[in-house]
Amino acid sequence: MDLFQKCKEFTAAREVMAKGLYPFFNPISSGADTEVIINGKKIIMIGSNNYLGLTSHPRVKLAAIEAIERYGSGCTGSRYLNGTLDIHEELERRLANFMKKEAALVFSTGFQTNLGTISSLVGRKDYMITDRSDHASIVDGCRLSFGRMSKFKHNDMADLERVLASCEKESGRMIIVDGVFSMEGDIANLPEIVKLAAKHDTRVMVDDAHAIGVLGEGGRGTAEHFGVEDQVDLVMGTFSKSFASIGGFIAGKEEVIHYIKHFARALIFSASMPPSAVATCLAALDIIETEPERRTRLWKITRRMQEEYKNMGFEIGPTQTPIIPIHVGDDMKCFQFWKMLFDEGIFTNPIISPAVSPGSQLLRTSYTATHTDTQMDKVLDVFQRVGKKMGVI
Ligand code: PMP
Repeated sequence: MDLFQKCKEFTAAREVMAKGLYPFFNPISSGADTEVIINGKKIIMIGSNNYLGLTSHPRVKLAAIEAIERYGSGCTGSRYLNGTLDIHEELERRLANFMKKEAALVFSTGFQTNLGTISSLVGRKDYMITDRSDHASIVDGCRLSFGRMSKFKHNDMADLERVLASCEKESGRMIIVDGVFSMEGDIANLPEIVKLAAKHDTRVMVDDAHAIGVLGEGGRGTAEHFGVEDQVDLVMGTFSKSFASIGGFIAGKEEVIHYIKHFARALIFSASMPPSAVATCLAALDIIETEPERRTRLWKITRRMQEEYKNMGFEIGPTQTPIIPIHVGDDMKCFQFWKMLFDEGIFTNPIISPAVSPGSQLLRTSYTATHTDTQMDKVLDVFQRVGKKMGVI
């Protein structure tokens, strides 16, 4: 049996390509902004995680350019050995301070942050208690660890309690949840999660990839939003969203971060964040801390879009954030809907299994503080026309 046989037999993507409906790996030939250029055509972007619009901010871009001038293009080594710059440590100090935690540690991607954190902390006898809708990087982090993984039904606190009660008391336990769920845009029930965690003597880790810079008055994410910051042990964030860069971090108690720093293979055996990315994050953090009006604008757009989609009859589910899914429920219909929007100048993200369960296929839309009202008027107008043509509304 040839190991590559499965590749020959994988025809699903080519069939969608042959129909002219393939929506993935679309090359963009402009900066990541509220409008992008694809195939020479201007398209309104409502598929990015550029929540605060900082990818094109002059101060952020200048910080990256200056860092390249000073430090060069890359670190060519791991944080552990030759790849730590003074600005990596400055960013860690600034993040710890911002997140109100004792310490923080930066990784080269958010994905690696979850892989390294979970697999280093969770030992053979320990439990990882995860929400069924947690991000793939949490799932893979759990797979990499030698511990036991127990899942509870999405945001179902009775089921979480059932799982907690079933764990052996002498084992270590950690609940790991997305703060904001990346596809549906709903928020974890953190007040209840931290209560149950305290009752069952269990640690809590929150992946706040989609919440930092977005949720909470200070932009510190889900725990700030609910007023439970001191009851969350570890907060993970990515730099690929509000921070307009690439990388990730974990923040928590100094001794825990110190331990992760010495045992996380995704940190130790991988090269560090490049200088330009680190400098971008420092500049983005300045803006997150000092320009709350960006968050205010993002929420104004979010509330308007949620309201208008609902009024038009779209099924948007339990979202409470700038991630607004438009439920379609079928792969082919999802691709057709995506293509019609694309042809009308709107870029969305079609989400199919395994990112969502079969039957829950959706178009993921997400918004940026720098979107204009005129852009949003056009998006709504196109959605109404195409939604009707597709029979979705
Ligand atoms: N966690 C969540 C919830 C995410 O949505 C993502 C990325 N989409 C990640 C982790 C991984 O982050 P990164 O893109 O920085 O690797």
